[in-house]
Amino acid sequence: MPRLAYVNGRYVPHAQAAVHIEDRGYQFADGVYEVVPVYRGILVDEEPHLDRLDRSLSELRIAWPMSREALRLILGELIRRNGLTNGLVYLQMTRGTAPRDHKFPAASETALVITTKRQNPISEAVLAEGVSVITIPDIRWRRCDIKSISLLPNVLGKQQAVEAGAYEAWQVDDDGYVTEGTSTNAWIVSAEGQLVTRGVEHAILNGITRRSLLDLVREAGIALEERRFTVAEAKAAREAFLTSSSSFVLPITRIDDSPVGSGKPGALTKRLREHYVSHITHAERKKALA
Ligand code: PMP
Repeated sequence: MPRLAYVNGRYVPHAQAAVHIEDRGYQFADGVYEVVPVYRGILVDEEPHLDRLDRSLSELRIAWPMSREALRLILGELIRRNGLTNGLVYLQMTRGTAPRDHKFPAASETALVITTKRQNPISEAVLAEGVSVITIPDIRWRRCDIKSISLLPNVLGKQQAVEAGAYEAWQVDDDGYVTEGTSTNAWIVSAEGQLVTRGVEHAILNGITRRSLLDLVREAGIALEERRFTVAEAKAAREAFLTSSSSFVLPITRIDDSPVGSGKPGALTKRLREHYVSHITHAERKKALA
């Protein structure tokens, strides 16, 4: 089965998929994206992802290229045609193609590219050990709530993490507080046993995994504080973990050179991961039967 991509109205072989050199995404990073996990053949949290896409588009005044319903059909069709069971759907919308000029073009059509990627959930071996993060200054702009395709600081940060032998880099604001990872949200269980994650404002992306997990945490009656935390607080924490569409809930066992807690994945982290996986398994099964 050849891998297909969807590009501006057509399903095309992935290897030949291309956009125009004057696409404003290529010229200016003038666009937004979404990454939606596919678990057991079904899109996870599709509606919240489309809501966030809608918000990103409207913040940048980029028009939807089609109705939401039509987009849903294309997503389903691409997953079907690519026989995707576990992995990710990547969708990107830009302000379209126009002669290079910073200001918005008088007329352009929103460009849409959708690709899929196979990816198995994180292995049990990695989950048993946890991963490490480094901390780096957050050098991004002040609208990190918009899922913009302008990702240079995130790219540099992730590369720095990889070169340091770490899985992720936690970005730290000018006041010494952790904002988020380069492609993940950051959580700790403080030395006092409190579950903590940064509140949503313009400094972080409101992760869909973060939001779903927050709902589960509230349902389970687990005490939670949505507030900022410093690197020092994180290093003294009992547990730490990250969340994202591709990692779900992933234990962190080292921050820079400090082991977190016992140096092994924490009990609450494990419980939350189980909760999350069972949530997506049940929610998706219900959806498949609907
Ligand atoms: N923060 C950033 C900067 C990200 O790129 C991502 C991944 N999209 C996340 C957080 C996690 O968001 P989600 O749970 O929606 O994947």
